[in-house]
Amino acid sequence: MDRTPGSRTLHQLIYSSRVRIPWPDQDREVESIVHTSIRNNRLVDVTGLLLVHEGWFVQALEGPTEAVLATYSRISGDPRHEDCKVLHAAPAERRSFEDWNMCARRMTPADDAILETLSMRASFEPYALTGLQVLRLLKSVRGIQRRTQLAALG
Ligand code: FAD
Repeated sequence: MDRTPGSRTLHQLIYSSRVRIPWPDQDREVESIVHTSIRNNRLVDVTGLLLVHEGWFVQALEGPTEAVLATYSRISGDPRHEDCKVLHAAPAERRSFEDWNMCARRMTPADDAILETLSMRASFEPYALTGLQVLRLLKSVRGIQRRTQLAALG
């Protein structure tokens, strides 16, 4: 737990939901969600990662407890998705996505390593994942995203 003077308890929440955005509008809407998330989350010190795959959203939110819960409460009422299910919610020792404000990752066939992770099951069913599994999944997405960015830089 972060116990530096003045620090607040760090909380991590991961949920999954079904996308409810008509296909032709998806890219534009996801871009708008990411734009809003970056703006809002930065103000309240929330970091995280948003994954979009096969009609599912999977999102990690982490930061001060009140900020994470308030953000999730807003998100869960958003009509652009439905059936939000919390897969993991717990105090955290440290951030897993500290260098991410928010990024949306749509899978492409080129993302072999991620797809391999996602193919733990015949079809992608986040609701069936345990908290630990879903955290591992998002961490591997983060790792691949980071490597892709480093490769693009250099
Ligand atoms: P604005 O962006 O100014 O929007 C104003 C209002 O319009 C809000 O009530 C919003 O819900 C609604 N709205 C905007 N566009 C649409 C649309 N196309 N269809 C229906 N209603 C719309 N917000 C965060 O702050 N942080 C996050 O990490 C985050 N993650 C999200 C993840 C997912 C999967 C989804 C679906 C939404 C996410 N959002 C996130 C957005 C969140 O649900 C709220 O829309 C947003 O926080 C409201 O911020 P705002 O008041 O600045 O609204």
